[in-house]
Amino acid sequence: MLKLTKDNYFSLEASRQYMSVSQFKGFVPAYGGCEAASVAKLSGEWVEPKKDAFEEGKYIHAWNEGTLAEFRANNPDMISSQGPTKGQLKANFKHCNRMIEVLENDPLVMKVLAGQKEVILTANLFGIAWKIMIDSYQPESGHFGVITDLKAMKEMDGKWWNKEAQAYENFIEHYGYKIQMAIYAEIERLAKGRKPEQWALPHMAIITKEKSPDHELLFFDFEVIAQQLQIVSKYIERVKLVKSGVETPVRCEKCEYCLQDKKLQRIRHYSEMNLY
Ligand SMILES: [Zn+2]
Repeated sequence: MLKLTKDNYFSLEASRQYMSVSQFKGFVPAYGGCEAASVAKLSGEWVEPKKDAFEEGKYIHAWNEGTLAEFRANNPDMISSQGPTKGQLKANFKHCNRMIEVLENDPLVMKVLAGQKEVILTANLFGIAWKIMIDSYQPESGHFGVITDLKAMKEMDGKWWNKEAQAYENFIEHYGYKIQMAIYAEIERLAKGRKPEQWALPHMAIITKEKSPDHELLFFDFEVIAQQLQIVSKYIERVKLVKSGVETPVRCEKCEYCLQDKKLQRIRHYSEMNLY
């Protein structure tokens, strides 16, 4: 197995050898995933287009890790190269500084975000190797430790229509954050060799990208961890079969990968569009 480091954690080879929470969700349609796109990504056939939001998230994480100066030096494209703002941070990253200021000015946030940063752990779960990277890790806090994930997001009170459930859901459901926190808790427990259900308490520190950034601290209890692990166990066998090439990946026909060469198989009756 590949020995994971900060340099290779997000590499293709690491994704091939290890399952991660985002890879898992990428395979499961109920979490907005697409099997075909996930397989194409792993084979190197398809590279997901980079989004600005991704870079902003990395900027905030570099602050949490204490490596912001290094991050700025390695990413000169964050600096405006023309016009009256030439030489300054681009507006969206300037706003990231405002978000960081909000976090720094809240003592409870800084307490929860303290500890070891960007800690990589691996363990075997559901018969495969998993990798996680904990933003902030305090193994000595609470009963079995505290793990905290830092999230920079558009807003906290958005709602999303879930077609399968035929109901609105909040950002925690929509982005599968309960699954993430449960997997983090379980992999950390396994990596540290503690008994079943002796979980570190997962937390999320959230900062919004709004003009006046809002922020929140959340924790997840043992009941939701157990329930979410149960849900992952239901989907994981199919994910393993598709990832290993035993089963043919299904196309979702909705994602950027599928839309590149979508071909219609039939003509639909107009009323099929009425479902939403
Ligand atoms: Zn697709």
